[in-house]
Amino acid sequence: MEPLEQRLLAIVGPGGLLSREEVASRSAGVMRADSLRARALVRPRSTEEVAAVLRLCNELEQPLVTHGGLTGLVHGGDATPEEVILSLERMNAIETIEPLQRIALVQAGVTLQAVQEAAEAQDLFFPLDLGARGSCTIGGNVATNAGGNRVIRYGMARDLVLGIEAVLADGSVVSSLNRMIKNNAGYDLKQLFVGAEGTLGVITRVVLRLFEKPRSQDVALVAIDSFAALTRFLKHIDSSLGGSLSAFEAMWREFYQLVTTPPARSAPPLPDRHPYYVLVEAQGADPQRDAERFNAALEAALAQGLIADAVIAHSARECAALWALRDDVLQIGREGPPLTFDVSLPIAAMEAYVAEVRAAFAAWPDHRCWIWGHLGDGNLHFAVRVPAAREEVERLMYRPLARIGGSVSAEHGVGLEKKPYLELCRAPGEMALMQRLKRALDPRCILNPGKIF
Ligand code: ZN
Repeated sequence: MEPLEQRLLAIVGPGGLLSREEVASRSAGVMRADSLRARALVRPRSTEEVAAVLRLCNELEQPLVTHGGLTGLVHGGDATPEEVILSLERMNAIETIEPLQRIALVQAGVTLQAVQEAAEAQDLFFPLDLGARGSCTIGGNVATNAGGNRVIRYGMARDLVLGIEAVLADGSVVSSLNRMIKNNAGYDLKQLFVGAEGTLGVITRVVLRLFEKPRSQDVALVAIDSFAALTRFLKHIDSSLGGSLSAFEAMWREFYQLVTTPPARSAPPLPDRHPYYVLVEAQGADPQRDAERFNAALEAALAQGLIADAVIAHSARECAALWALRDDVLQIGREGPPLTFDVSLPIAAMEAYVAEVRAAFAAWPDHRCWIWGHLGDGNLHFAVRVPAAREEVERLMYRPLARIGGSVSAEHGVGLEKKPYLELCRAPGEMALMQRLKRALDPRCILNPGKIF
């Protein structure tokens, strides 16, 4: 065993250190092969052990990549054969849930689903939700500022974090485990680590904001015949529901067809001739009155010509079935792996942007392009199959965003994948400040080096 490995072993003990070969053999459930190579993987059990690992790596200038659940999509967790992986998988406890304060204090390695279930058991609600909920971890969610399905109502991970404990590159622990919604006593240090993708510190514990559990859930799928009607319907339904709108998930026709034809399990709840479909969800406190208001809002939309057709779920099972249709995103891979994109742009610019990139794809007669997304957040996902290199398609997708004030990353982060395009959506002064922060907090550049910028 090399001296570094011996010293790591002395910190984390037997079982806390995996060799190069053991890392390479961990394949189950992991999406990215490049995240499974490293000279070693270290699994600390406490903040003190994380701090000791970082102190040692900083002293030796040993680069280190922090891992959560490995469900990221932009190669933020990739490691080189010379790097050490720091996994938070053994720090997965839910330490406390306080129903009065409506907070949870959890360790970074706990899965999102475990937090959702623990909140539910106390009659509370943790609203962050994404398809990878069973595998992704809170530390990863926070480090990448995850978004997902209910951002329109509750915000992104950033908005659900009240406090953070993080370890800096030199091993010093920043304990900023604030529990209050209001705290203006100086800089909001936790936000330094949210969305920093592990480049400024290692998040070890998080105070999460919880909410009262919704008592009602109303879900509908609607069909819409024009983009103008789609945006008017968003404003109509949001204002009609008085703050209870909790999802507005748009699907372009090709995506809807994909997730409602075999081998997809859902049959089409509505005919597939319309250009747009939206899954709308409201959550409230009074099942009967909420359902009446939800139905009335949809009837008014139908009467005003905003929507062409609608199907309303009448039970929890039917709600789940409509969500399953929307969540069946893996269908995009059924003809082979597509190129996927996650972009953000003003809603007013969306129709022209989609037309522009589609016109570019038309150069390839056999191309496929599926579009869906969290329309109320300005976030669209694209899956594209074209006979072209990824870089060529990236340029087609990302360049127009600079002109219209969009972003090359809405909710997936930057990692390695979007690094070449970051300057399209961040100003030179912003890039310079990010680099100053990085140098100040991690002068030896040991934390997830080469990611973001
Ligand atoms: Zn998404």
